[in-house]
Amino acid sequence: MSTFLGTPGVGNLRGDEPFPAAARTALSDSQLRRNIGHATQTIRAKRLAAVAECDDWEELRAAGSALKQEVMANLPALLEQMERNVIARGGVVHWARDGDEANRIVADLIRATGSDEVVKVKSMATQEIGLNEYLEAHGIAAFETDLAELIVQLGHDKPSHILVPAIHRNRAEIREIFTREMPEAGELTDDPRVLAMAARAHLRRKFLTARVAVSGANFGVAETGTLAVVESEGNGRMCLTLPQTLITVMGIEKIVPRFTDLEVFMQLLPRSSTAERMNPYTSMWTGVHPGDGPQEFHLVLLDNGRTRVLADEVGRAALHCIRCSACLNVCPVYERTGGHAYGSVYPGPIGAILSPQLTGTTGHGDPNASLPYASSLCGACFEACPVRIDIPSILVHLRAKQVDQERGGRGGLPSGQDLAMKAAGWAMAGAGRFSLAEKALGAGRLIAGRDHRISNLPWPASRWTASRDLPEPPAETFRQWWNRTHDGSRQ
Ligand code: SF4
Repeated sequence: MSTFLGTPGVGNLRGDEPFPAAARTALSDSQLRRNIGHATQTIRAKRLAAVAECDDWEELRAAGSALKQEVMANLPALLEQMERNVIARGGVVHWARDGDEANRIVADLIRATGSDEVVKVKSMATQEIGLNEYLEAHGIAAFETDLAELIVQLGHDKPSHILVPAIHRNRAEIREIFTREMPEAGELTDDPRVLAMAARAHLRRKFLTARVAVSGANFGVAETGTLAVVESEGNGRMCLTLPQTLITVMGIEKIVPRFTDLEVFMQLLPRSSTAERMNPYTSMWTGVHPGDGPQEFHLVLLDNGRTRVLADEVGRAALHCIRCSACLNVCPVYERTGGHAYGSVYPGPIGAILSPQLTGTTGHGDPNASLPYASSLCGACFEACPVRIDIPSILVHLRAKQVDQERGGRGGLPSGQDLAMKAAGWAMAGAGRFSLAEKALGAGRLIAGRDHRISNLPWPASRWTASRDLPEPPAETFRQWWNRTHDGSRQ
């Protein structure tokens, strides 16, 4: 582990523009907002009902959190144990410092089989490193087999949600994509069953001919070398069992120490993600078995910035994530902007804390530097998180680091925000000064719009109003109201 210090290379962790600019574009798309709002409200309600059935939900959350802390404290030893057990059962283990290295390893393994196409199980890790794009550039076709991922791939689109990558698409849009990209499917309607059957027939041909599959993994069990994929459609299981060669790319944080630890996560994950009591398709495999399933198995252990995150005592809790997406579905910011505005393959609250840490940030102007601010800090994400990741605290921690980094870049000189805070502190420290400031703020009523909001202030305050607006100041201050209603007797 000592030389295994990875930083991200190519991949899909950083967008082209900062969140406020991307969010503005997303907010103007009313169809997108309708699609996302409808979908997240439905998932939210179902998840709440599924969680309410569990009397020991809080104990399960605490157990999941404790297990993840144990993993982070013993990660090097657990990874080496995992490696020994995979090799002992006939698998091959590869270590990838970053996305570039992981992509090269996977492409070389596919080429060695003589194949130029692969079927894929839905995998965030391979999206993170841009594996499909890399393979395409090197003459290898990768076919996504998860229904939502298929919609995204055929639509030449990007995923916008961890669990439901095509959440931004409605049925009519999906029918259009299928009609255009799968002409063999014939005439299609908006009926979900018709669309699902068309995708099924399309994918079946791929499953029966593919010789290589690429997957991610939800969990890797160190004590046995077992890998686990949790999915809802059964397409993943086809990929994991039919081809001759299976290549799994797993982030190093996905390790669990013992097989019995899965008991906790297999209760937390389905209820938090798809609002199901039990996951429909849980596939587990340990090495290779003669005459049964893939005869060649490769595990690629991916760092890609994770050891950097691990070094941050506060931020490392982001590595506890089990990718359930519950935090996305309760986030008011995600609901209004959708996932593309985050620029990263990890959108929503978890993306706001994970992506900037995986890539590191270069200061103001870096799209990922804006992500810790893509939150109202309402706390809903922490309440929903099945492994109790305190996302709001990590957001504040990352904001503070960002401010320090930017101040360092200015040679320690204060920013406009520093000066504004100092001025506010000075005004609030004296009753007379505060009273004067209150009266001056009343002038804000003159520049408020017809919606009673202040949306455009001159520089430097424009940096605030570029992404937020302010309510119009009230006609009467608190002190004026108090004096008027209490005979002028201030307490
Ligand atoms: S941060 Fe928590 S709620 Fe969000 S995806 Fe990860 S595990 Fe789920």
